[in-house]
Amino acid sequence: MTLKVLSVASEAVPLIKTGGLADVVGALPAALAGEEVEMITLLPGYPAVMAKAGKVRKVVGFDSLLGEPARIVSGRMADGRKLLVLDAPNYFAREGGPYGDPSGSDWGDNWRRFAALGYAAAHLAGAFGAKKRFDLVHAHDWQAAMACVYLRYGGKPVPSVLTIHNMAFQGFFGGEIFPRLGLPDAAWTIDGVEFHGGVGMLKGGMVCADAITTVSPTYAREIHTARFGMGLDGVIRARTHLVEGILNGIDKAEWDPASDLNLTSQFDSGHLGKRKANKRALEKVFGLDKGEGPLFVVVSRLTWQKGIDVLLEVIDHLIGLGGRLALLGAGDASLEAGLREAAERHKGKVGLHFGYDEALSHLMQGGGDAILVPSRFEPCGLTQLYGLAYGCVPVVTRTGGLADTVIDANPAAMGEGTATGIVFTEASYDEFSLAISRAIRLYADKPAWKRLQKSGMRADFGWEASAAAYAALYRRLTGRAQ
Ligand code: ADP
Repeated sequence: MTLKVLSVASEAVPLIKTGGLADVVGALPAALAGEEVEMITLLPGYPAVMAKAGKVRKVVGFDSLLGEPARIVSGRMADGRKLLVLDAPNYFAREGGPYGDPSGSDWGDNWRRFAALGYAAAHLAGAFGAKKRFDLVHAHDWQAAMACVYLRYGGKPVPSVLTIHNMAFQGFFGGEIFPRLGLPDAAWTIDGVEFHGGVGMLKGGMVCADAITTVSPTYAREIHTARFGMGLDGVIRARTHLVEGILNGIDKAEWDPASDLNLTSQFDSGHLGKRKANKRALEKVFGLDKGEGPLFVVVSRLTWQKGIDVLLEVIDHLIGLGGRLALLGAGDASLEAGLREAAERHKGKVGLHFGYDEALSHLMQGGGDAILVPSRFEPCGLTQLYGLAYGCVPVVTRTGGLADTVIDANPAAMGEGTATGIVFTEASYDEFSLAISRAIRLYADKPAWKRLQKSGMRADFGWEASAAAYAALYRRLTGRAQ
């Protein structure tokens, strides 16, 4: 029998995206359709979402949803997909990003905006005596985690799954907001949302959900430790029997070099020569000199997590060995400034594009020779998966999903033809610069490089296996194991 699952999140492709979360939430419904799971996504009614939700119909109305009028509406996107939207203009009809104003500062009422999203989700699933419209709720990250909390304190009509896409973002707020969340006093304990005297929304979700997943098996292990657990490792250890790592897939309808219209030249693994035209196009976009050495690309949030400060340290080394660098990203102003200085030092060798540009991110995977991902931690990471699919060899740290998806070009793996990239142990100058030296040497050995590209393109990181794992989990939790 088809399971009805409500997926709740703060972003989803193609409506609104700031990172990998949106790719995953956007891809899951189609991936699960083959598993007899009907998944419908509930999103906040930001202007971009309302504009693309088509003609909407009211499902539920609230005179006051944590203090503001709101309604849940259903709509259909241009491709026919059904969608639920929390239409609450006082919370979401604002200029700026999903989490902050145009200057990048977080909205001061984020606690209420996303608690409201969680409440709406729980309501749709039958909490607080409402009509039960779903068999299970799947909440993503702290912005949706309160759905699990409201379900538990609202009578627990259905089970819930919480997926942690990044433990670094926890939705931690002062204790003074607790009375305004509409929860019983019983929720103000270590078994509820209370966390070090404040309200921990991710933490609350973790203790109330029936299962906790994260987006790779290695990250699932790592978050049990103080180094990666970011203060929540104790909660994870206490709930370890409920923790599972399910690797993200990539959406092949969006990310296939043979049909990708963002590329100047489409190609497949039998026609890698066609990548050249994409490389030339990239050189133009980034104002780079033509050259024989490898063109390294970076597509990333510019943050400490992503190791961009270490990238800054190795740029001179990379250019000194004959490489070039094209970077697309947005984030910390100090990192942007450092990158600008490097581009100034290496005119024609380092090209930058600050901002968010989906089409350009595809061209970079289709024209770059290698993609650098020197993350300090990486729950799953998608850019290395796109790199593998596009013959843009990933050079990555051995952490989280990077460790689970890229096979280092050591002699044994090269001999067997299984190597797909270059893996280094940590985001430090010594390790990263050595990895870049290895990449440049390997690139000079054309047949070896081609083998690396081809085995990467053969690797299958589509959604099938992951969708099956989610479906099995949903069935187990709803007592419908097959
Ligand atoms: P995270 O979610 O931590 O930022 P992931 O690697 O999981 O990292 O996902 C990042 C996603 O965002 C990928 O789809 C990547 O291509 C995209 N991305 C990141 N920065 C940019 C940018 N500046 N322009 C376009 N796409 C970007």
